[in-house]
Amino acid sequence: MSIIPAKIRPPVANDLTAIPLFKVFMPESVMESLRLTLMSGYIGQGPRVDEFEGALCGRLEAPNVLAVNSATSGLQLALRLSGVDTGDEVITTPLTCTATNWSILAQGAFPIWADVDENTANIDPDGIEALITDRTKAIMVVHWGGYPADMDRIWHIARRHNLKVIEDAAHAFGSTYYGHHVGTRSDFGVFSFQAIKHMTTVDGGLVVSRNQSDHSRGKLLRWYGIDRSADRVDPRCEEDVTEWGWKFHMNDVAATIGLEQLKYVDGIIARHRQNAAFYHRHLKGIAGVTRLHHEPNRSSASWLYTIKVGMRDDFIEVMKKRGVMTSKVHERNDRHSVVARFKRSLPRLDRLASEMVCIPVGWWVTEEDRQHIVDSIKAGW
Ligand SMILES: *Cc1c(COP(=O)(O)O)cnc(C)c1O
Repeated sequence: MSIIPAKIRPPVANDLTAIPLFKVFMPESVMESLRLTLMSGYIGQGPRVDEFEGALCGRLEAPNVLAVNSATSGLQLALRLSGVDTGDEVITTPLTCTATNWSILAQGAFPIWADVDENTANIDPDGIEALITDRTKAIMVVHWGGYPADMDRIWHIARRHNLKVIEDAAHAFGSTYYGHHVGTRSDFGVFSFQAIKHMTTVDGGLVVSRNQSDHSRGKLLRWYGIDRSADRVDPRCEEDVTEWGWKFHMNDVAATIGLEQLKYVDGIIARHRQNAAFYHRHLKGIAGVTRLHHEPNRSSASWLYTIKVGMRDDFIEVMKKRGVMTSKVHERNDRHSVVARFKRSLPRLDRLASEMVCIPVGWWVTEEDRQHIVDSIKAGW
C-alpha cells in the first residue's frame, strides 16, 4: 500500500534527517542573562523566581502562581492541597503522560478511569458522574494537545458533588477557553516547562491556585513547610514547621531561562497554531483520515496535532520512511501493571487509542515540511 509519488522526498535511513515530532527551543540570547545569574553568587530560589512568577501572573491573568521544579511535582502539590489522601479516589483520564496519574498514586490515592471523548481525546464529562463515590475527592482534567476540555460541564459536576477540579495544562500553555487562559479558573491548574513543551526552563512547572489560602499553603509545602521570607533569630535556621512539605521549588537558573523564553513564546505558539490550521484545512476529506473536533470559543495552543487513521501502526512506519516522525505520544496509562487493579472497560478509548497518531506541528515545521507531510499522508499507507 505504500506507493511513494516522485515528488515525495526519498526514504531516509537516518532519523536525524526526518522531521521531528518534538524539538527543544533554546534561544542563544539566554546565555547573557544565564551567565549573570550563574555568576551572581545566588542560584537557588531567589529574585529570578519572583520575577518569573510575576511575569506569569501577568501573562495568565491569575494572581496566585507558584513556580515548581516540574509539573509532576506541581500535580502532587495540587492533589495534596485538594485534600486527596490515602484511599481517596480521583476521577481522571488514562490518555495522558504518566505524570498525571502517578501523582495520584504518590498521594496513596486511586485513579478512577473515565472514558474519553473520541472527537477530542479529552475526558468525556458524560461518564464522570457515574464514577463518583463517597471517596471521590477530585476530577483531574488534561487538555489533550492543548485543546480545552469541556470545562463548564466538569465545573458543574464538581460543584454539585463538592469535588475539586485540577487541570493538567501541560500541553496547553497559551490555550484559551471562552477567552480565558486554561488552568486559571479551576481550583488548580498545572503547567509544565519540561524540555519539549511550548516553553522550557529545562525542567520546571507552575501551579495556579484559585484561592489565596491554597496558594499560601502551597508556597510552604513547596519548600519543606518553611516560610522562606519569615523573620528569623538565626537567618540560616527556620522557626517552627507546622506541616511538612517537599523540596519542589524552582531555582533562579531555571527561572532565568524561563524569563528569556517568555520573550519568544507567543511566536512559538503562533507557529504551532498556523501549522495546525494548515493541517485542519488540508487534511479535510482525505480517505482514511479523521480530524479531531474543534469548537469555536476554544483555542488550542496546538502542542500536538492528532488525527485518527486506519492501520495506524502501518501509518507510523510508512511516514517514517518518508522522513516524518509520528507517534501516539502518550501510552494509555491504564494498561500498565502498576495500575492493573483499577482496570475498567473504556470502549471509546479502546477505539481512539487504536487509531490516533500525532504528526509534527511545532515551530520547527516549515511551510515546505508541512506540505510534505500532507502530501505524504495523501499518498496513502
Ligand atoms: C509533560 C507532561 C507532564 C509532566 O511534566 P513535567 O514538567 O515533566 O513533570 C504532565 N502531564 C502532561 C500531560 C505532560 O505532557
